[in-house]
Amino acid sequence: MAAGNQSTTPFVFGVDLDSCLGDYDQAFKVAIVELREDLSARTGVPLAMWPDNVDDFPPNDVWPIYESWKFLRDDLTFKRVHARCVIDGHMMQRMPLYAGAREAIETLLAIPDVEIAVVTHRAFIDENAHPDLVGYSSAAFAQTERWLRTASIHVGEPRVTFHFSGKKDGVVTNLFIDDSPGNITRLRGAGVPTITFDQPYNQRVPGLRVSHWGEVAAIVVQRMQLLESARQVQADLALFDRPSLELPSAQVRRIPMTVELPGPAVLPGLANVLAAADAESAALTR
Ligand SMILES: [Mg+2]
Repeated sequence: MAAGNQSTTPFVFGVDLDSCLGDYDQAFKVAIVELREDLSARTGVPLAMWPDNVDDFPPNDVWPIYESWKFLRDDLTFKRVHARCVIDGHMMQRMPLYAGAREAIETLLAIPDVEIAVVTHRAFIDENAHPDLVGYSSAAFAQTERWLRTASIHVGEPRVTFHFSGKKDGVVTNLFIDDSPGNITRLRGAGVPTITFDQPYNQRVPGLRVSHWGEVAAIVVQRMQLLESARQVQADLALFDRPSLELPSAQVRRIPMTVELPGPAVLPGLANVLAAADAESAALTR
């Protein structure tokens, strides 16, 4: 190791994309309003149930989304609508970036040991089972990359990596931020401290949460410091367990164990106190 080389253990901050970095619901609403007639025809859900204005959507306060937006009916209908909104509505490249997100990432990247892992689930539709949705995954990937570039999320920066994965704990991270109750539970269960990004449908999730990206950088720094302190304690404790600390006997220096008490000339009262204590001890043991 070169002289003066410091620890280079990275601190990896995992970041979810949909409804965390970017406003998924807003992009979804816009695409649904634009495509509502076609979506109604394809799904059989009556046209009157589809909002014709982005301001007319009911609150998305129950997870999963089709429990809040009843026109999505069930998980399969949701997936079909989501896929059409990607293929025809290009919604993955139209998400508004949440306020403060880019600035928070820039602040964190100014810290040399920080890495950012953006983890997002895209290929959750089986195109083999749904021939009308062929092309969904490739469109979703391309639009996501385009969105990241437009949002200036440091594409090309070696300390920012992208992962298309439904299992957020499949990427090794030290701290994560996510909005999905299921993902948060799974990450925490896997031992990854996770910040909840505040959304109406995750209000029952306990623990640490933020409602604005302006709160995030300070939490990441605090977590880094805690982890560094814990590593230092572990390193200190390991010193006590290292067999290499047992020196060869020839090097062991014998330390005389005789303790000389100060005589009466130094502390005149001490000899009497000790004598009295001895006498008392002897009386008690008699
Ligand atoms: Mg999400």
